[in-house]
Amino acid sequence: MSNKTLSLNNSLYEYILSVSLREPEVLARLRAETLQQPMSMMLSAPEQGQFLALLAQLIGARKCLEVGVYTGYSTLWVALALPHDGSVLACDVSEKWTAIARRYWEEAGVAERIDLQLAPALETLDRLLAADQAGSFDFAFIDADKENYPYYYERTLQLLRPGGLMLIDNTLWSGAVADTSRQDPETCAIRALNDLVHADDRVQMSLLPVADGLTLARKL
Ligand code: CA
Repeated sequence: MSNKTLSLNNSLYEYILSVSLREPEVLARLRAETLQQPMSMMLSAPEQGQFLALLAQLIGARKCLEVGVYTGYSTLWVALALPHDGSVLACDVSEKWTAIARRYWEEAGVAERIDLQLAPALETLDRLLAADQAGSFDFAFIDADKENYPYYYERTLQLLRPGGLMLIDNTLWSGAVADTSRQDPETCAIRALNDLVHADDRVQMSLLPVADGLTLARKL
């Protein structure tokens, strides 16, 4: 026994899914369709989607933000966890991938809870800040282009209310963050983000080895 996190082989991972995943049928179908797409490595892991939904309910989230939608899988997990008057403001630039997302959001009956903004996310976040939306969001999930992560973090932190929760995906980047030979812009941006959050006394934080690394930052 050790207090180090277990590395997961396939059989242990399958076991975890078999005793913890409760994926609604509409989400299972969206995941299956997404896995046929060429960019399917951008799909969030199902146990992570379920975890986001649990966290959103734990904090009583109503007003949510998502930066990076792809085919809307994590968006749908969160939208289904919200009360009827809850909302997700979802930022993406791809008409193609979000067309798949919209189809499943409609089918799941939560399309009216999701406000999709097709524009560069920094522009959308700046527009929200300019419209006095700072301090108004309960929950945010960032899973988009990695080079902008430090900028998404700063703006999203301003948009959260005190006690609001931000989740940031891929913060271990397949382990590349700990490999000093990796100096590409994406890996460097994730390292910069990890250093920024760790040193930031405006948040409580935890970096969890869930899927590809999931950072939780709760605004103080
Ligand atoms: Ca991701």
